[in-house]
Amino acid sequence: MLMGPAIELGLPVTLLAASPDESAAQVAPRVVIGDPDDEAAVRELAAQVDVITFDHEHVPGDILRGVLADGLCAVHPGPDALAHAQDKLHMRERLTALGHPCPHWWRVTSRQELQDALAEAGGRAVLKTPRGGYDAHGVRIIADASEAEDWWEGRDTLLLEELVPFARELSAQVARRPGGETRAYPVVRSVQRDGVAYEVVAPTPELDDDAQREVQQLAACIAEDLGVVGMLAVELFQLEDGTVLVNELAMRPHNTGHWSMDGAVTGQFEQHLRAVADLPLGATDPVGPAAVMVNLLGGSREDLAAGALEAMADDPALKIHLYGKTVRPGRKVGHLNLVGEDPQDLLRRAHAAEELIIEGNGGTRA
Ligand code: ADP
Repeated sequence: MLMGPAIELGLPVTLLAASPDESAAQVAPRVVIGDPDDEAAVRELAAQVDVITFDHEHVPGDILRGVLADGLCAVHPGPDALAHAQDKLHMRERLTALGHPCPHWWRVTSRQELQDALAEAGGRAVLKTPRGGYDAHGVRIIADASEAEDWWEGRDTLLLEELVPFARELSAQVARRPGGETRAYPVVRSVQRDGVAYEVVAPTPELDDDAQREVQQLAACIAEDLGVVGMLAVELFQLEDGTVLVNELAMRPHNTGHWSMDGAVTGQFEQHLRAVADLPLGATDPVGPAAVMVNLLGGSREDLAAGALEAMADDPALKIHLYGKTVRPGRKVGHLNLVGEDPQDLLRRAHAAEELIIEGNGGTRA
């Protein structure tokens, strides 16, 4: 999804991909094949480009520090900023030290410490693996330390968080250039299902201007404090009384920002490229009163293109983004965007199209 805007901006991209079948490798003009944690491959890439950026968090900081120390190319976001998106414990420590609002959390290094922290947290809490989690792999609600036995294998530290009784989840995206210029997107509401982003509504319904500005400022402040360059997504919990707490950070275009590809003057992928290439940032204004994004998760239909054809014919306003991935149950294989007047109407239409694309007519999903 970075590739289209890169072509339009005239930025020649070289991609590091683990295999030629990866979605991005299918559309990148030049590809270096290698794993993201293979130092030789990352350095081979670095020797060919002016700046390295990311669409995931899996390149180890030490490899990036080596690239910078040897002056091979720039790295945006830099390894010190990126560390906060790679390690949730590091993120919690830093945000707490900076005074940004977080859930109560505990660093636990033994079963006994975990049991004690659980008791302090009220007997039930959220345990997380500090590194390598995604789509809720690495997030588990537990009531007893014994429920985490398997997670100690190969790890000496875990993160325990209070179980936040949030009213809803929000996400705030902000872009930041190397010199510090930032631009914030409208704050969105995201709904998760089984730990995976399911739908997003932009802007967040019933979030007044002051509250929206406050959340945008929090995201810009975090970007500044951590020295992020590129897109930053700040995922948040909002409590019943309006208070927000930071859940986690992503320093790249993020699932909760996909709506902006069709719903904002500048989509997040173009904006990420502008920021890391140090070009003036684009306007983040929405192009309509409301936009929604619905993820396409693999269902019973393998031929997504056939489903897409039917959905396009049904609803010409629909914007379909397919990722070129083989369908597996529950796997993110694309997303849909719709822009219009009424979020409820947009969600209804987007979910009807989702059903058609992943299950076909007469699908089994409710
Ligand atoms: P991942 O890195 O896999 O996306 P997250 O830390 O974002 O994991 O957690 C995934 C989801 O689990 C969140 O979107 C939220 O719905 C739920 N969750 C995570 N932490 C907490 C918490 N402390 N309290 C309540 N729910 C949580």
